[in-house]
Amino acid sequence: MSDFSQIEIYSDGSTHTLYEFCGFDDCRRKILEALGLTGKLFSRDVFWTATPDTNVRLTVSSLDDSDRCVWCYGCGDFLRHANASPEPGGGFFGCECEDSEEDREPLEPMVEVNGRLELRPFR
Ligand SMILES: [Zn+2]
Repeated sequence: MSDFSQIEIYSDGSTHTLYEFCGFDDCRRKILEALGLTGKLFSRDVFWTATPDTNVRLTVSSLDDSDRCVWCYGCGDFLRHANASPEPGGGFFGCECEDSEEDREPLEPMVEVNGRLELRPFR
């Protein structure tokens, strides 16, 4: 598995958290473990949906379009710039990078803030 992927978490019906990753099993495992999800989950297929408890649904799928630049939550590597998809009123979404051909710097992955994982610039 090496395609960019995402882990989506739905909880209590409305909360929606998205963790993108580079597609490597190791990054997927690191993110899931950081979320407290271990064991049997790792023997599943590449893409799957699990329901660890009644309020939480977790889906691993291929990466959706996004309107912002994306880094891997597992290793911090830059994955891709925001998609330039057409906006309903005309114009384009897209990143605000100076050069959208150039990869951006990696970020420090797996920084835990209030139970959520975040990416931080390296200091
Ligand atoms: Zn990664």
